[in-house]
Amino acid sequence: MKHTPALSERAAYDRRAMSRGCSCSVVGRPSWVVVVVLVGLLLWPTGSAAAEAPCRPAEDAPRVTGAPDDGRAASLPRPFQTQPWAVDAAQLLANAQQQAAAELDAAGAPSCYASLLPGIAARTGFLSPYEFLVVGYYEHDWDTRDGLLRLYRDDPQQAVRRLADIWPSPRAELLIHTPAFFDLDTNQVYVNRGAVTPDQAPNVVVHEFWHALANVRLSSRPDGTMSRTTGFWTEVRPAEGRAWRPVDEQVEGGVPTYLMNEAVAIEMEVGATGREHPQMRPDLLEAMSTLHELFEVAGRSRVLQLYLESRSDELKGIAHQAAVRG
Ligand SMILES: [Zn+2]
Repeated sequence: MKHTPALSERAAYDRRAMSRGCSCSVVGRPSWVVVVVLVGLLLWPTGSAAAEAPCRPAEDAPRVTGAPDDGRAASLPRPFQTQPWAVDAAQLLANAQQQAAAELDAAGAPSCYASLLPGIAARTGFLSPYEFLVVGYYEHDWDTRDGLLRLYRDDPQQAVRRLADIWPSPRAELLIHTPAFFDLDTNQVYVNRGAVTPDQAPNVVVHEFWHALANVRLSSRPDGTMSRTTGFWTEVRPAEGRAWRPVDEQVEGGVPTYLMNEAVAIEMEVGATGREHPQMRPDLLEAMSTLHELFEVAGRSRVLQLYLESRSDELKGIAHQAAVRG
């Protein structure tokens, strides 16, 4: 099925799909990030150690938090305006944790996954549209990101003028209308208060929690290329490179692996809230249908456990069995 990254992005809540083949500039990442990844590799459990410690969340980076809404952003140009958000964020996060914990329990997931939930909740940032745009746009350039976020706290009007280089542009406009995403590089869920209504918020938050719960499975190839897999989906980074690039692959049956991750998050979101995911596009419906075929072949709990452990090869094997079975 044909899709553009932009449309796929709007299909679910998050913006990860946007990075598929995007022309985003790769600006310098702090070298310590590379060091952290390498240290993580050295600590990578093998054999029985892996069985004892199945949970491998993303590495924390310094946390991004939203500026207090003091009313100044109400007079910004239209897409950057903020209104008071009628959501009790603490209650919202508590509910999402409870719902996800119940789902993990029902799936027979190792208890370490539920123990990740308080940290995922604590690292969930409820951001203004400006902050959300900056965090997404400068995901590989934290110095620029942090400078703009500081300026926004000091002087929102000037901060918006400072965006003249990137605003307006298709990528920036797509981002500012994106409800939320989970960022593997900072291990944070970001929620866009400008794009999520209080009514949608429970769905959005528990959905992103399921992205955040999946292991980050790192490996290196002989040529120095690194790969990292979460759920069904893999990204690679060349030996000399600094940015991760999505691997363009599909499970048998034709659904791209990143959409299979969306299908899991939507499945769990709907299960948690009892409410449908809004605006299901045809490519997501197809991904949901494929996910349910995997459930039929291997059992729902087993598939969810493999998703959490990011064992994409096994998941692809189950998709193969499902396709062969017809
Ligand atoms: Zn998603």
